[in-house]
Amino acid sequence: MPNKKTLFDSLKNQIRNCKDCSLWELRTNIVFGEGNPNSPLLIIGEAPGATEDQTGRPFVGKAGKFLDQCLKEASLDREQVFIANVMKCRPCIIEGKTNKNRPPTKEETKICSKWLKRQIEIINPKIILSLGAPATKFILNKNTIKMNEIRGTFIQSEDIFVMPSLHPSYILTYKGEAEKQMLISDIKACHNKVQELGLCFKKSEIYTEKPFDLFNI
Ligand code: SF4
Repeated sequence: MPNKKTLFDSLKNQIRNCKDCSLWELRTNIVFGEGNPNSPLLIIGEAPGATEDQTGRPFVGKAGKFLDQCLKEASLDREQVFIANVMKCRPCIIEGKTNKNRPPTKEETKICSKWLKRQIEIINPKIILSLGAPATKFILNKNTIKMNEIRGTFIQSEDIFVMPSLHPSYILTYKGEAEKQMLISDIKACHNKVQELGLCFKKSEIYTEKPFDLFNI
């Protein structure tokens, strides 16, 4: 059985060559995801933005720094979890001389989600923290959800505990301290669940694009 690094390297190569939807035309880099592939906790967002497209890394812009801060407040850091998006290329439109973020279409999401499904098979997480409604809908396989009703509560989906939470960009753009505390509380709940399940976080194995590509077994 190949190890996770080998499986991830092969998957990443397939995604790098992917032209299955039109988003490849405007991408600078695919955004595969990063962190510890053996982590019991997988964090999922919807799609890369401009900084992620430039760096090939998930959650590295303003929202990423905010997420790092929230992880820290829950006594975690990104090397202990795995962070990925449903979409592997940035959905954007050309406006004048710049590319502007846009939500992915249903069709684009459907086409691209095969890559995240494969990542989930490889990582085999016990807990998924889904950030925002689109990622939560995808992971729960539902067309409609009410985030204000399900946020902050574990929902068991097969053998995975899903914690729906708020997306850092949404909190930064529309909300404030109260919502930040909700996200921190949801991350803490995931941390506690890891302990409750008798699992732990290890920092020794890291899979990332830049500035280093380490995977120390
Ligand atoms: S968004 Fe996904 S399906 Fe579309 S080109 Fe990129 S990797 Fe392929």
